[in-house]
Amino acid sequence: MTKSALPTHCDVVIIGSGPAGLATATELKRLGIADVIVLERNSEAGGNPRHCGHSPFGMREFKRVYFGPKYAKALVAKAIESGVGIALNSTVTSFEKGGLLNLSTKQGATQLKAKIVVLSTGIRENPRSARLVTGQRPLGIMTAGALQSMVYLSDNKPFENPVIIGSELVSFSAIATCRHAKIKPVAMIEENARSTAWSFLRVYPKLQGVRFLSNTRLVKIHGKERVTGVSVIDDSGEKTQFICDGVIFTGQFVPEASLARMGHLEIDSQSNGPVVDQFGRCSDSTYFATGNVLRPVETAGWCWKEGVETARNIADSLSDELVDNEKQTSISIKVESPIIKYCVPQRIAIQSELQDIQLQIRFTKPAKGRLVIRSESGEVWSKRMSGLPERRILLSLSRETVESIMVKGEDLVIECESSNY
Ligand SMILES: Cc1cc2nc3c(=O)[nH]c(=O)nc-3n(C[C@H](O)[C@H](O)[C@H](O)COP(=O)(O)OP(=O)(O)OC[C@H]3O[C@@H](n4cnc5c(N)ncnc54)[C@H](O)[C@@H]3O)c2cc1C
Repeated sequence: MTKSALPTHCDVVIIGSGPAGLATATELKRLGIADVIVLERNSEAGGNPRHCGHSPFGMREFKRVYFGPKYAKALVAKAIESGVGIALNSTVTSFEKGGLLNLSTKQGATQLKAKIVVLSTGIRENPRSARLVTGQRPLGIMTAGALQSMVYLSDNKPFENPVIIGSELVSFSAIATCRHAKIKPVAMIEENARSTAWSFLRVYPKLQGVRFLSNTRLVKIHGKERVTGVSVIDDSGEKTQFICDGVIFTGQFVPEASLARMGHLEIDSQSNGPVVDQFGRCSDSTYFATGNVLRPVETAGWCWKEGVETARNIADSLSDELVDNEKQTSISIKVESPIIKYCVPQRIAIQSELQDIQLQIRFTKPAKGRLVIRSESGEVWSKRMSGLPERRILLSLSRETVESIMVKGEDLVIECESSNY
């Protein structure tokens, strides 16, 4: 789709063509919404999985296992088959109240107005600058995402022997990416006592000949032109220097919410994504958000599922079955525990039609204890649970609980009465 082919108005515009955006668009077409356009800043659609040259993707969506690039292609094909318009090389630079988007395209600046706008702009990893690591600025420092793009999209080999910082799922993908490009990482370095991803994955670095160092922190990157080494320090204060020619910063994801931040939408300082209600509606109900822009970080399959659900809520909104949230009262949910990283959604819109509501939270550190949701008049929900950081934790509020919350109409807080692991 070119700029001239872009209409000036449409029913729903979706910003971002990853699994969440494409799922939203495809489902909207299935539900009979006429004009659905996906805007993508890259020259190819498919989002992050395009450069995840490993499996498993697609179980939930296609009931089979794909590698990332094939999975992305399958999602794009399904969207196009359903009649979704995908405009590539189309970056949304800002948006305004009333669904007016300002775009930068290959043909120049343009505008597009939609009845509903969906933010599905995904996440990004924290680069070196945000992690405050000292040293010069030699070549060979990048995130796992940048490495994957270089290896899988451009067939580049940026280094031979890097160190990997972090042990989230994506950190293990970085080892797989290195293996694919015949790069041999020197070590994987984790600040905490155990691997952030499932502990059984710890054998993977070992099998690939990569040392795994826990309780260890990167303090300095050496080298002027190129990386020549790193200094790390462990919990006992012992410093070690590694010779390496690259550093891969992995994980520590943040939602790609700059657009929402620059615009008029309310942002949650804990998730760093836009504040949404249980339907995925932002503080301006012309705008919805879905997928990883809501919070760091979920799998492609989960984001796809969220996209499908968001599409159904958008269809209800277009047919006036959802009350406009400016005319509607809502209950806010605040996190009041340093152990809880965030809660999504951050608001519950008071509706006449009652449904179960699922809240997503994450822990900041390993914890077990009693999770409690209270309002001013007392406890409304509680559950004993244990969890590790960066794992999905779902709190299911039954219709009866939701009804009692709505009847009281009081704001909620979530706490964790915890005994640490
Ligand atoms: C390096 C890395 C590796 C990962 N590996 C895995 C994995 O192995 N398995 C897994 O399940 N998940 C993985 N993830 C998580 C991944 O983000 C999700 O799998 C999934 O891609 C999220 O889907 P999404 O639609 O929310 O966002 P994304 O797939 O990130 O798509 C967002 C899209 O929005 C576009 N966009 C952003 N801003 C604008 C704008 N202003 N205008 C127009 N377009 C815009 C982007 O170009 C992008 O195409 C990984 C993430 C990263 C960063």
